[in-house]
Amino acid sequence: MKTKGASKPKVNLVTLGCSKNLVDSEVIMTQLKGNGISVAHEADGNENNIVIINTCGFIDNAKQESIDTILKYTEAKENGLIEKVYVTGCLSQRYRDDLEDEIPNVDAWFGTMELPMLLKKFKADYKHELIGERVTTTSRHYAYLKISEGCDRPCSFCAIPIMRGKHVSKPIEQIITEAKNLAKNGVKELLLIAQDSTYYGLDIYKKRNFAELLDQLSDVEGIEWIRLHYAFPSGFPEDILEVMARKPKICNYLDIPLQHASTNMLEIMRRGTTMARTEKLLANIRAKVPGIAIRTTMLVGHPGETEEDFQELMDFVERNRFERLGVFAYSHEEGTHAGQMKDDVPQKVKDTRANELMELQEQISLELNDAKVGKTYKTLIDRKESGYFIGRTEFDSPEVDNEVLIDAKEHYLKIGDFADIEIIEAREFDLIGVPAKQN
Ligand code: SF4
Repeated sequence: MKTKGASKPKVNLVTLGCSKNLVDSEVIMTQLKGNGISVAHEADGNENNIVIINTCGFIDNAKQESIDTILKYTEAKENGLIEKVYVTGCLSQRYRDDLEDEIPNVDAWFGTMELPMLLKKFKADYKHELIGERVTTTSRHYAYLKISEGCDRPCSFCAIPIMRGKHVSKPIEQIITEAKNLAKNGVKELLLIAQDSTYYGLDIYKKRNFAELLDQLSDVEGIEWIRLHYAFPSGFPEDILEVMARKPKICNYLDIPLQHASTNMLEIMRRGTTMARTEKLLANIRAKVPGIAIRTTMLVGHPGETEEDFQELMDFVERNRFERLGVFAYSHEEGTHAGQMKDDVPQKVKDTRANELMELQEQISLELNDAKVGKTYKTLIDRKESGYFIGRTEFDSPEVDNEVLIDAKEHYLKIGDFADIEIIEAREFDLIGVPAKQN
């Protein structure tokens, strides 16, 4: 459909990257809607005449995906299908100067903290009264809740501090208000996210205040599950474990990216911890929150990683049997500390190590899932797909963890509701279940 001359802005917002970027997109949508501007999230077709692309600039693949998306929409503009293309987010924050020259057909570029300037393009103002309100793009029953922005950590491989700046915690009152508004809109599960959630409060309260935040969030009516993401191993505030054990709304789940295990690599990666301290922390977490599911992320192929280091990592993963584990192959990022080192692990070796670690995890995950057969779990039903109702237990975060599949031909379940599901079969990364018999 040729749209030349169409003037009333109808925005299509496209989000790339992580859940933190998704929350930023939701805030942009809330502000546009608050100014009476029509906006859709990742709409198909070209009904919209203005496209905003919220980009990711984390590692090579993500950067390439962002650039491909920008080129797709600048081409649509050249073909007269849309009128304007605006780019924001991490890639724009990090490479704006170069990109302005390389892709001149973009109407304007914005950094990660420049929402008011983006709104100006629509003759719209930043509405402070909307802070704490948020249009969400996830299923109605769960939402991400960003508790801080930026990061003060020096991890060698990471470009996030370059794009997101220093750590800034949101005041507790603001987070509680946001949680209450989300609950009013039907949200039952809050996924707490940050670059480093365990750093919460050190800047504005001069102490680690995550435990206090969790305590107050647990009292928000309507919220049934609170899930912790992006904890950091060194300086881990163990007082949160007491709150997790005491407050049933806080899922027995902890996402704590460790990135590596060999003390040599933890030093090179500037992670501020050792293998021994990490194992001690994991033992404390499991002792203080029995039955907890621990999710972690490992990075293989970092400059300096030897075959011995990798073997230590494999043994560590075998020993600690994480319920959930993701693996990344190192990406050489200019501007990072490691970016000045020699990228001395060949790509083939990086990929081989990543595959080997995932194969080990597949086996561990199957064994852990096998142990769930015959047991019943409170399950949040997310969607219906390919003849199944698909849900998650408290041990599973959306999009990254295991799912529970229930045959939709045999059973009916309500999306957005909790159901007690008895597990009848286990797979590497999924479970098959049936509604538990009501006594
Ligand atoms: S904690 Fe480390 S890896 Fe995570 S965002 Fe901060 S610098 Fe990056």
